[in-house]
Amino acid sequence: MQNTIGKYFKRQIFDPIVDVFFPPICYICDCYLHPGHKIICENCWSEIPAFDGKLDQSLSNRSFDNLFILFEFEDKIRQLIHLLKYKRHLTLAQYFACEAKLRFSNLQYGSYHAIVPVPLYKTRKRERGYNQSEEIANALSKIYQIPVKSEHLLRIRPTSSQTKMSREQRDLNMLDAFNCPQKNHEKRILLIDDVITTGSTIDACAKALKKSGINEVDAFAVTHPPLENN
Ligand SMILES: [Zn+2]
Repeated sequence: MQNTIGKYFKRQIFDPIVDVFFPPICYICDCYLHPGHKIICENCWSEIPAFDGKLDQSLSNRSFDNLFILFEFEDKIRQLIHLLKYKRHLTLAQYFACEAKLRFSNLQYGSYHAIVPVPLYKTRKRERGYNQSEEIANALSKIYQIPVKSEHLLRIRPTSSQTKMSREQRDLNMLDAFNCPQKNHEKRILLIDDVITTGSTIDACAKALKKSGINEVDAFAVTHPPLENN
C-alpha cells in the first residue's frame, strides 16, 4: 500500500496526534504501520534472516571470548543500521535488544557484571550527538538489569574509516586506540557494537578491558557483514 503523503513524515515524526492524520509507514516497504510500531512493519522485521552462525575467518584468534550476532547482513538490516547510526532512529536499539532477549538464552539476568559499549572518539560523539552502540547497551541494560559502564573504556585517539581496509590494516588502525582509565574488578563484561566485520575493533577493546583486570569479555553485535561489504 503506497502512502505518498506519509513519505514526508515517515522518517521524522512519531507523534500520536500527527499519526492520526499522517499514519506512519514502514521505512522498508511503505505499508502503513500498526499502532505501536515505528520505523519498520512486522512483516519486514520477520523477514530479516537470523545470523547463520558462520563467522568470517578473520574473527578467529581474537581476544574476546563468546560472540553473539543477531542478524545476517542483508539489505534491510543495512538500512536499519544506517537509520540507527546516522538518522537518530534510536527506537531501533530497543528492537534489537528485544530480539536479543528472544534469541539468546545465555544472555541471562546476572550473567554479566557490566555492559560496555564500543566508544566513539569524543569529537565524533559530539558531532553525532549519541553513540549507537551505547543506545543498544542501554536498551539491553533495561531488559537484563545489568549496569552500563561506558566510563570503563575510552577511545583515546580518532581512527580512520575502515570500509576499504583489509584485516591487517584494520588491526593496525585500531592498535592501542582504546584504553581503560582505571583498574576494573568485574569478572564478566558484555561488549556492544552495532556491526562486527573482521573483529579488529572489538578485539582492541577486549584487549584493553582484559588488561584492566576483566577476566571474560563477550561481544554482541547486530550483524556481521563480509569484509568487502560493510
Ligand atoms: Zn515493511
